[in-house]
Amino acid sequence: MVIAVASGKGGTGKTLVATGLADVLSEDVGAPVLLVDCDVEEPNAHLFLRPEIERTEDVHHLVPQVDADLCTLCGRCAQVCAFNAIAVVPTKVLVFAEMCHACGSCARQCPEGAITEVPLTLGRLEFGHAGSIGFAHGLLEVGQALATPVIRELKRKAQPEPGSVVTTIYDAPPGNACSVVETLQDCDYALLVTEPTPFGLHDLRLAVELARDALGLPVGVVINRDGLGDAGVEDYCAEASVPVLARIPFDRRIAHAYSEGQLWTQALPEYRPLLRSVADAALRAREVRQ
Ligand code: SF4
Ligand code: SF4
Repeated sequence: MVIAVASGKGGTGKTLVATGLADVLSEDVGAPVLLVDCDVEEPNAHLFLRPEIERTEDVHHLVPQVDADLCTLCGRCAQVCAFNAIAVVPTKVLVFAEMCHACGSCARQCPEGAITEVPLTLGRLEFGHAGSIGFAHGLLEVGQALATPVIRELKRKAQPEPGSVVTTIYDAPPGNACSVVETLQDCDYALLVTEPTPFGLHDLRLAVELARDALGLPVGVVINRDGLGDAGVEDYCAEASVPVLARIPFDRRIAHAYSEGQLWTQALPEYRPLLRSVADAALRAREVRQ
């Protein structure tokens, strides 16, 4: 089972829920758990789980390199590039590697065979364990803009042993852009974390539209900092038939534990049953779907 913990906006408590869920499932339920931090631009689950990293590998993709001696400046490569990542000016061909999606069209279409594809490092993957919790995350290389290929490779490589029954938890990037779509694809359940404010409601609507309406995933909501704000999120969830699985109260002790880099479910064990009920609801939703 793969549960993606997502949110329409940053700072709602996505990592708080993802790491707490991993802790509770692993320790209280005894379930093998793999936590994958897909927020490759700003991963932070490791700050709370403190995994021991056992293996790393780089993520590359292939970008064009032009041989000026063979190039006739015909312009074909720029015409076929759908991403404006290559331009032909009067004296040379310019490649904007940070915009290249490595589709290979330019190299295939070059009539002179002047383009070869060379590897460019996009980021790094790290794999390890935090106690009995399997752990993986990706780190986008500084200056790189393409998070999606790093997430795709992270998901491909962070797989449980064949035949083992593992609950995988993806800590998704914030927002609703391509990197979130890449994370949510092929998941079994989307757990959407929000806060009871107009901003939280606005972004929750977008997250439901993406996860449930566009990708067809069963969704449930966790309201973080419950007690602040207004009733807009509750009203929307009731209207849109989105189950609210848990309400994490606005408790300064949670914020304090988080700011200290402590796993809140360890620091405040009274919240463990709340996350257990979230996990049970996600598992039930999957059974109903099957
Ligand atoms: S398609 Fe090939 S020959 Fe034409 S401009 Fe591009 S690199 Fe040069
Ligand atoms: S590989 Fe694809 S995206 Fe990259 S420059 Fe060539 S045509 Fe554009």
